[in-house]
Amino acid sequence: MTDTALLAVLIAGVGGILAGRAWAASRERSPREGRPAFRASPHYTQGLHYLATGQLDPATHELAKVLREHPDAVEVQQVLSHLHREVGQVEKAIDLHRTLLARSDLTRAERAHALASLGTDYRRAGFLDRAAQAYDEALEVDPRNLLALEGQQKLFEERREWRQAYEAQTRLARLRKSDDGLVLAYLQTEMGHEAALAGLWEEAEAAFRTALSLDQRATPAYLALADLWAERDPARTASILESAIAAAPERAYLAFAPLEKAYARSGEHSRFVDLCERLIEQDPRDWRARLALARHLRAEGRPGEALGLLLRALESNPHVLLVHLEVWRTLRALGQLGPDEQRYVTTVEESALYVDPHICTVCRYRADDMLWRCPHCHEWNTFVEERVGPAAGGQV
Ligand SMILES: [Zn+2]
Repeated sequence: MTDTALLAVLIAGVGGILAGRAWAASRERSPREGRPAFRASPHYTQGLHYLATGQLDPATHELAKVLREHPDAVEVQQVLSHLHREVGQVEKAIDLHRTLLARSDLTRAERAHALASLGTDYRRAGFLDRAAQAYDEALEVDPRNLLALEGQQKLFEERREWRQAYEAQTRLARLRKSDDGLVLAYLQTEMGHEAALAGLWEEAEAAFRTALSLDQRATPAYLALADLWAERDPARTASILESAIAAAPERAYLAFAPLEKAYARSGEHSRFVDLCERLIEQDPRDWRARLALARHLRAEGRPGEALGLLLRALESNPHVLLVHLEVWRTLRALGQLGPDEQRYVTTVEESALYVDPHICTVCRYRADDMLWRCPHCHEWNTFVEERVGPAAGGQV
């Protein structure tokens, strides 16, 4: 997680705790200003400063001092355990949450929050059954506790229990009044995949169609639906993939390979060429359409035309390794590479490089492919193509 994202999580957590606590902060008042006494501690102010500037270790240190002076300060206890978890000291977080839960003077909201936080500690530590139990208990105390619902939803996703994850996300969207259509569509797509794997063809199709009714930009739902029809009906497959391109042109390239196959199966090879040409005309910088067309032409025995397209693609996108690789393959097809150059190209092809780098915009996790859910931070729809620009001055 980046520092900024971590800070956002912490500030959101602290904000929630302070808001929930504000009305109940009447037990321990400083005589002068009517505020809880711990807030007058210089360590509290210093701790918040460190927290706001993302210095988590010193923040932990300062808030621990506040808690030693004021062991009853519930929100300090909650923030501190949250901090321990975020810096990887999950055991300490669990201990603090348990101590907190042993108190008999917690409000309903405080108890639910502490149980939900404990659930997240367990989830982070990999104790998924205990996490589930803690979330359930939190929701028994307060069925509308967002932290518990969000944690529970993530837990369902981690266990690949897509239907439950979908239902939990629906509840969350209703409570938060948020528009979660795209995430719900991804979850429906996962439900469809499970059904398809189990051979439940109609159920799978219904799930993919529901996904598209939730958000028509859900590219993986089109791809899965097309895959379902690929063997049976190439014309229908092609039409589904064309809809995917129309709904999310920036993801068109994901439909290229199956679409090329579908056109070939229905004997309409030239439609793929037409499609790529149309996309190139719409956006002359679209190197993926040029690359797809170049590959198609090379396979058809027209490497000379392919090379022209690739060189045009490199003019506006000199950084794209995939295009360079295709240039070398095309030169090989044109018979312009000697044995040494051919060996070199083979070495590059076999190297474990990020030839098509994609990156998660939340946690910066990198992959060599488009991923719908980040395997690291578990967020949906956060991957983008990583654009590496030329070095300053255009020279390396
Ligand atoms: Zn991520």
